[in-house]
Amino acid sequence: MICSRCSERAIISQRYSGFHLCQGHFIEDFERRAAETVQKNAMVKDGERIAVAVSGGKDSTALLLCLHKILAGRDVELIAITVDEGIDGYRDDTIKAARAIAGQLGIEQKIVSFREEYGYDLDEMVRGKDAAPCTFCGVFRKNALNKMAKRLGACKVATGHNLDDEAQSVMMNYLKGDIHRLMRLRPRREQPGLVPRIKPLRDMPEKEIALYCMVKDVFTHSRECPYAKLSLRADVRDMMNSLESLFPGTKQSTMQGFEKLAEMAKGMRTQVDLRACRKCGEPCVEELCKACELLGKLNVNCITASLLYI
Ligand code: SF4
Ligand code: ZN
Repeated sequence: MICSRCSERAIISQRYSGFHLCQGHFIEDFERRAAETVQKNAMVKDGERIAVAVSGGKDSTALLLCLHKILAGRDVELIAITVDEGIDGYRDDTIKAARAIAGQLGIEQKIVSFREEYGYDLDEMVRGKDAAPCTFCGVFRKNALNKMAKRLGACKVATGHNLDDEAQSVMMNYLKGDIHRLMRLRPRREQPGLVPRIKPLRDMPEKEIALYCMVKDVFTHSRECPYAKLSLRADVRDMMNSLESLFPGTKQSTMQGFEKLAEMAKGMRTQVDLRACRKCGEPCVEELCKACELLGKLNVNCITASLLYI
């Protein structure tokens, strides 16, 4: 198979675009498309400090590499934030990888851990509970990232969400019938206390992100989080992957359909006004933010457990 743009051997065939690309043209195409997403959505302005959430997995590694490349020469500062949730046998390796890539690019890295912020590792939070670990993880990770980004004076938080993640999120919200959460996937309005989030890789398929890391020769930890298989997302991911292999372009069309809906919903009040959490001051919908609510339940459980041992 020969590259559609030169006579080199192609390393990828993009079924959705019909192009075959060699290594050089694949890298060029990947970075050009990410730069277009950033530009089209006015994600980054000159003079800004951007906090990049870097877990050390392939998506965030590709994100940091790609942003470092496409923003070179611009008056933009990147700083990496790594969240240590406390997942035994998994997170230590990815943190090492995150440290390595930030060091290689000369980008400052800050680590924020669940244990230091909330008093518990994720493993402790979910031990013996029915709730899905990803629910705890997602709530506390968002909270920790937002707090750390504010402490660092960051204007935006960039995350490595890819096309697959975004299409899965759209589908999960359709399946749950949660239209409000669906529309919040495209926040149109800045909210006080919430550092705006940007997703520069949201148009890039997961497989191309893995390939980008491979051809850029950066180590990424390939093991999956031990809790991943317990989530609804895992089933939706399998379903979307089989649909994509039967009907190439399914993930893109899921996103295009969602964009049209979001456009039609413009002007409708799909985003609620946030207020400050009574306990920690972080932005939230109710009196207490989700993190404080869950933390309250965890503390009650811990007191009950310790009383049992008296
Ligand atoms: Fe957290 Fe779930 Fe992701 Fe594991 S799979 S890192 S528990 S959100
Ligand atoms: Zn709170």
